[in-house]
Amino acid sequence: MGALISLCEPPVYTGHAMDCIFCKIIEGTIPSKAVYQDEYVFAFTDINPKAPVHLLIVPREHIASLGDTSNDKKELLGHLLRVAAELAGQRGLAKGYRVVVNTGEDGGQTVDHLHLHLLGGRAMTWPPG
Ligand code: AMP
Ligand code: ZN
Repeated sequence: MGALISLCEPPVYTGHAMDCIFCKIIEGTIPSKAVYQDEYVFAFTDINPKAPVHLLIVPREHIASLGDTSNDKKELLGHLLRVAAELAGQRGLAKGYRVVVNTGEDGGQTVDHLHLHLLGGRAMTWPPG
């Protein structure tokens, strides 16, 4: 899988790798099991999986949360979703899967670098806790 769409603006690196665990994973100073990467996105397995398939899909650019995005990130956000769908297809999740973006304190976000959870391989329940 190559870049799924062409994006006009290159990623912006702002030195957040100093204190952000996902920036460190992206730059390789913290190890991870990478499953996909391109110019804009890095995806890896969650260290504490909540389903048989549990992947994290993150932008290379440090963005703290979905709540910190604006219209200029529309293409990047769409790309993240398309990567999630492609990875779900690759993992054989034809019966379905869940994509979650925990956002902020009440949303249960614990790592302040925007990320999509791709969960699959079991039936999900609703509503989430
Ligand atoms: P959230 O709670 O939505 O912010 O999700 C953060 C996710 O990052 C959790 O599911 C953690 O298990 C996962 N996580 C934290 N540290 C690592 C790591 N070093 N490698 C892989 N996943 C991690
Ligand atoms: Zn970061």
